[in-house]
Amino acid sequence: KYADSAMYLAKRSGRRGFRFYTHDLTVEAAANLQLESQLRRAIDRGELELYYQPQVAFRDAEVLGSEALLRWHRPGFGFISPEQFIPVAEETGLIAEIGRWVLREACRAAAEWNGRGGPVHVVAVNLSARQFQSRGLVQMVEKILAETGCRPEWLEFEITESLLLDDDDTVAHALAAFKRIGLSIAIDDFGTGYSALSYLTRFPIDTLKIDRSFVQKVTTDPRHAELVKAILSISRCLGHRVVAEGVETMEQAAFLNVYGCEIAQGFLYSRPLPKREIPSLPRYLTPH
Ligand code: C2E
Ligand code: CA
Ligand code: CA
Ligand code: CA
Repeated sequence: KYADSAMYLAKRSGRRGFRFYTHDLTVEAAANLQLESQLRRAIDRGELELYYQPQVAFRDAEVLGSEALLRWHRPGFGFISPEQFIPVAEETGLIAEIGRWVLREACRAAAEWNGRGGPVHVVAVNLSARQFQSRGLVQMVEKILAETGCRPEWLEFEITESLLLDDDDTVAHALAAFKRIGLSIAIDDFGTGYSALSYLTRFPIDTLKIDRSFVQKVTTDPRHAELVKAILSISRCLGHRVVAEGVETMEQAAFLNVYGCEIAQGFLYSRPLPKREIPSLPRYLTPH
């Protein structure tokens, strides 16, 4: 915020503001550098943790799985949001190591929760575009599955639409390989990217996650309501599972359920929870 307003002032005051502007950038760069070096050590120091947010059936709130969400306890700063540090991890390349750690943790959890029989609990893991740039992604995934005893059907990868616009073949190859292994693929934040809908037919996609920004307007804005109905109807025709993310109210849940959305994720059902709380969840959650 401070940096933004400083830049705004600098632009407005023209040359006189120039020094102020560069000074401020330096301060910001220094802060980022510090963030980076702390992030570099975060894994070794055990400061990263995965939380899991349940995904439930709209019909009866049965727990079907959960999304793994990264948390960082940064010394001296408390909890830092992934929206703040994931971009830094992507820019610096640290995402490779962090992503590997996340996947291993999530696979361990999935193996633990599914190892005792009972209903399958699918764990969804976010993959950043940057992770697809490394040649060894598919082998890394196979290695971690083998090491942790996680079966591919217990795991789903969440990727963003923008990744599919890269005409680079690496993404298509990786997705095809994941499919062959038996993993499922979800499109995260569906509807917010520059989607050419044709990609839905070109890539092996199992699940669409309707972005929270749409879900939160279905009961207040008729145009968003129509948009979400259209998404649900397309996905029915193409055979995709649809998860509505960020469901917060009973009204939103009722709307989505009526128009055929089957899976919900949001504060109405549960916040993201620490790992140890997942096994003691009831099989059916109570919305509140
Ligand atoms: P996302 O994948 O869209 O994750 C959903 C975000 O929405 C989470 O925020 C979750 O806590 C929040 N959320 C869930 N339900 C509700 C609701 O009902 N209301 C509201 N207001 N928010 C809700 P979080 O955990 O802060 O994660 C933010 C983003 O950081 C994620 O967005 C994802 O893009 C990224 N991220 C998190 N963990 C990882 C990771 O392990 N790897 C990568 N590459 N990215 C991650
Ligand atoms: Ca996600
Ligand atoms: Ca999302
Ligand atoms: Ca989102």
